[in-house]
Amino acid sequence: MVPRLPEEAFIALLRSVYRNARHCNRARLTPRTPRLSALGCRTLRQYASTGAGDGDDDGGAARRGNTRTKEIAVLGGGITGLTTAHYLARYAPDAHVTLYEARDKLGGWIDAVRVPAGNGRDGEVLLQRGPRMLRSGSSSNRYDDLVLYDVIASLNLQNAMRHPSGPSDSRYLFYPDHLVKLPSGEPTLGGVLEAARSFLREPLWDGCLGAALSFRRKNDVSGLTVISDKFAALQNARRNGNDDYMLERLERRLARDESVAAFLGRVLDDERPVRNIVSGMLHGIYGGDAHRLSAKHTVLDRLWYQFASPRPRGQVWMPRKDWFLLYELMDGVGAVSANADEIVRLAERALGWKLLAFDDGLVTLVRALVEDLERQGNVTVKCGEPVTSVTKGDGCVLIKTPKTGDQPAKYDHVISTLFSKHLAKIAQPANSLPSLAETHAVTIMVVNLWYPGQDLLASNHGFGYLVPTATPNNDEGALGVLFDSDLTTDPARSPPGTKLTVMLGGHHWDGYRYFPNGDTGIAMAMSVVRKHLGIEPGTTANEVHARARLCRDCLPQHFVGHRARMAAAHDELRAAFGGRLSVAGPSYTAIGVAPAMRAGWEAATRVARPRSATLWFANAHKEPDAEWRAWCVSTLLEGEGEAEGGKQREEELAGHTGLEEFAVYEAAAMMPVWKKDLYFRTWTRPERRFTDSEGRWIEREQEQDDEEEEEEEQEPETDGDQKVRVGKKSFRVQPPGSGNVLHKDST
Ligand SMILES: Cc1cc2nc3c(=O)[nH]c(=O)nc-3n(C[C@H](O)[C@H](O)[C@H](O)COP(=O)(O)OP(=O)(O)OC[C@H]3O[C@@H](n4cnc5c(N)ncnc54)[C@H](O)[C@@H]3O)c2cc1C
Repeated sequence: MVPRLPEEAFIALLRSVYRNARHCNRARLTPRTPRLSALGCRTLRQYASTGAGDGDDDGGAARRGNTRTKEIAVLGGGITGLTTAHYLARYAPDAHVTLYEARDKLGGWIDAVRVPAGNGRDGEVLLQRGPRMLRSGSSSNRYDDLVLYDVIASLNLQNAMRHPSGPSDSRYLFYPDHLVKLPSGEPTLGGVLEAARSFLREPLWDGCLGAALSFRRKNDVSGLTVISDKFAALQNARRNGNDDYMLERLERRLARDESVAAFLGRVLDDERPVRNIVSGMLHGIYGGDAHRLSAKHTVLDRLWYQFASPRPRGQVWMPRKDWFLLYELMDGVGAVSANADEIVRLAERALGWKLLAFDDGLVTLVRALVEDLERQGNVTVKCGEPVTSVTKGDGCVLIKTPKTGDQPAKYDHVISTLFSKHLAKIAQPANSLPSLAETHAVTIMVVNLWYPGQDLLASNHGFGYLVPTATPNNDEGALGVLFDSDLTTDPARSPPGTKLTVMLGGHHWDGYRYFPNGDTGIAMAMSVVRKHLGIEPGTTANEVHARARLCRDCLPQHFVGHRARMAAAHDELRAAFGGRLSVAGPSYTAIGVAPAMRAGWEAATRVARPRSATLWFANAHKEPDAEWRAWCVSTLLEGEGEAEGGKQREEELAGHTGLEEFAVYEAAAMMPVWKKDLYFRTWTRPERRFTDSEGRWIEREQEQDDEEEEEEEQEPETDGDQKVRVGKKSFRVQPPGSGNVLHKDST
């Protein structure tokens, strides 16, 4: 299943595909910036054109003349909805986009206020009541961060980006009655000694030694194990005469589902590390319960897939659609890769940082997105207009709001970014989306506390701490406390003092019918910081500014069975809306601002560049080698032809639900790759880096292009099997064929 041909073979193959393809001629090759060529995907740039906004001025304009303007609605003005509208405006300039937001304010959970300090004499304090930090993605097997950088580049926010460091690297867990500092991962002598001392003294680490040994034993996958495993499977397949045996076997392994607690309990042979440590981590990200959250839908996904179907050291499972995301943003046509250079710069710069923030918090991003949408001629933003019903009409979707009265607005396609349970409530006829109605989200009370003038953290500076399930006496249901005054990116504008954010509730409040009000929340938060940090209001601190916000149903929970529920929801959406209503956001895919933005990119791509989106899972039983990639390119080419006249596009526009990834075989949605071959990661091999440690471009294009030209000259042009020469070796490659999406159910 692993790409076996070197990248150069892929380049050579694509070039031969390019020469043979009916839509191509040499003149279409445009000069590229030197950096992009290092990705080795030059031809994809020309071929990824699948619809409006691809920059083919003549053909596109002619096509636009024949068809009426597509009306697209986006429900929800949180970060997912704003990003969706942003990409629709860029990728589908011939469509009109209407964004509906129930509140008077855009941004959803992203929210912050500046309050005067010292009656205004000491400036203002920024109180963030929702998300505030993003992970840089430098150690991820997904490329959500590239969408973030693309948006940042589009909005010209590069100079507003900050990378908090220093004290923010120190993180703690509260167990059983004090803060325990977590090892920083820095390979310094001091760091190692500190970690050893903590390990010997703190009950937090009980069971971790045995767990580490068990993990090592079970994760010991040598290349030999994988080869013998494959050999046994092949023998079996031959015996049974079953071509799909390998795929089915892989699917059986990957399609399993289990909770984080069950998975780690099995791998570590001890429950204590989950109760003492991992549950705290899950509280910080999901506010969720380790016994209910599905392991493969949390940040432990990479580990889960590795244990489900082990790969040799150095390989990692990656979603196939991330391959497309990378290549589209780097080398897609026109608007799609307009920011490629800037994305490369930002992604390479982020390698040195774990976190990303803005001086005014994430509202900076929201503000810039909104201002940009206001400038677009093809976008209308309707704030304070909650959507009350969504119904399938005749070749359209009908939307009602308090302002539409009996005359619902008609749309060719609707993208919902609402919490899935809320969408299920407004979808008509009632109960048409039962699988989405089942979704659960936790409620969190966010309390900002500001103690002016004093440093009350004394010896415990850092990012903050989390409270694991095993911590006793947690009557308030504390999930964690952030040390905001240490996370500030703009110390000059921050008056001196201690700023904390206390998070309460999450799964501790599951089943509650009534939640604490603001005053009770503040009292509970103060009780937490008194017990945990010794901060006594009135004695240690003379004055406290406090604000509470109850975030109802704010973090959707992907419980065990999430994938199966979403697959059912895919069918229900198709049955109820004929594929004219698609969904995006953390109710379905990963939680967090960057994943939400990526979901927005995908949602817009499905509608504006449907041919491209169709490929994410197409022919996915094939190994992701050069042949598979070449097939993708040829399919994109076919798409160009079919799209002419607009008919194909109209059908495709209607055909997506946003949940396709749950409806195909899981083995078809994932692929193993060599970690060192992934771009923009801390482990990327030097040949795949674009900038040096000083941030300067590495220029190696000339040499590479010369080699490519040489190879091209030597290649025979044939219509059948193609011979690809790389260095002294030559490879025989099948011409691109056709293939179908592997659906579990043929609906
Ligand atoms: C307290 C908290 C802290 C967090 N911290 C972080 C963090 O540090 N880093 C990180 O990456 N992520 C964090 N997250 C997660 C992140 O905030 C979310 O994943 C992300 O903001 C979700 O955005 P969204 O647009 O999908 O949903 P939302 O923000 O919920 O947006 C949905 C929008 O739809 C609107 N709406 C609802 N019903 C209707 C209707 N009927 N008609 C029209 N509009 C409607 C809502 O008003 C809302 O504006 C945090 C979340 C919370 C709650």
